[in-house]
Amino acid sequence: LSPTIPHIVAWYAQAFNAFYELTAVLECPDEKMTFPQVAVRTCRFCGKQEPDVSFDAAHIFPKRLGNKYLVSNFECKDCNNLFSDYESHLANFLGPKLQIFGINGKKSTTTFSSADKNVKIHSTSIGNKPVTIIAQKDIDQENISTNHKTGINKIEYAKQGYVPTKVYKALLKIALCALSDEEAALYYSRAYDWIRNNDGKYDLANQQHIFWHQLKINQVFTKPVAYLYRKKVDFARLPSHTMIIYFADLVFQLYLPLHSLDTPPKKGSPVIYPIYPSIMLDVLFSGKPIVQETFQPPTIEFNSDQPVKAQVEQWGTFTHPKHYKNMVSYDPVTGEFGKGDSDGSAAMVMVKEGTTFSNAEYIELTNLVKKLRGIQE
Ligand SMILES: [Zn+2]
Repeated sequence: LSPTIPHIVAWYAQAFNAFYELTAVLECPDEKMTFPQVAVRTCRFCGKQEPDVSFDAAHIFPKRLGNKYLVSNFECKDCNNLFSDYESHLANFLGPKLQIFGINGKKSTTTFSSADKNVKIHSTSIGNKPVTIIAQKDIDQENISTNHKTGINKIEYAKQGYVPTKVYKALLKIALCALSDEEAALYYSRAYDWIRNNDGKYDLANQQHIFWHQLKINQVFTKPVAYLYRKKVDFARLPSHTMIIYFADLVFQLYLPLHSLDTPPKKGSPVIYPIYPSIMLDVLFSGKPIVQETFQPPTIEFNSDQPVKAQVEQWGTFTHPKHYKNMVSYDPVTGEFGKGDSDGSAAMVMVKEGTTFSNAEYIELTNLVKKLRGIQE
């Protein structure tokens, strides 16, 4: 009897739930948070207190992931500045995802620029209608291609540089914020030390990995949400905490390193990392059974402290071919509509289904495309 794929996924879910229980949820509130007055604030990360350091509301999830109001009162300004640097590496690692999905954080518009500056992806709204424009300056580079027969649109771009370990630290910072004050103080002083200094005192060479799953395009998280799980069995080879974070079209699972009572990974006695059920969705939808002994969940390694430069990525969308039959072109000079030609590779505009524009809005859109492509009037 060979087990069906849903059975295998159910088995993993059961294993995860046997070892871990939910202990904290991080959600973005709709309005500003208030905190009770504290006599002297202490920074969770560096341990310094007022008045040696000063405090401002520090965002727990980066603003650019769509978090407006979820803040903490235990992160000093110095640590906040350091983490802002990590967050810029996370943003570069994500490439144009946030623009493509119209996740703007506090700003109303943001622009992604590829490492060679040929591709610009801009998310904004025209007449209150959300619009994402994908434009390329030099059409001959063919960074944007559309296939009118299959309906498959492809964008290829080189991402801005990022340092993998800094991306990992940007995500770990969120997890360290989710801990209770007590657990943070009792068990994670080494993790707070490592996230700030990276001074070589701790060997995390092979521990900076994240299990992940990419959601379908219509399941995008415009605000992030995270769940912190704590192990409920007394077994040192299981890490004490794992965080699941949903943002944009991604689910990431991260195990918190450097808990003082956990066994560090060693040859011969590996640490066990139970896989969160959502990560298993790839297995479920791939339809391929897995061999448990050799199974490797989808993983991204962030162990390197060397910059990754101009990493090329592709992103694809699907347009039903029937839409190309009704395609029209618009001439902003004469103000006339014509029959659409098939040369749509200078720019691609993504709107919600059923969106229509007035003539004035078309002109605004056309000018924006020109501006992004660097064409002067
Ligand atoms: Zn601090």
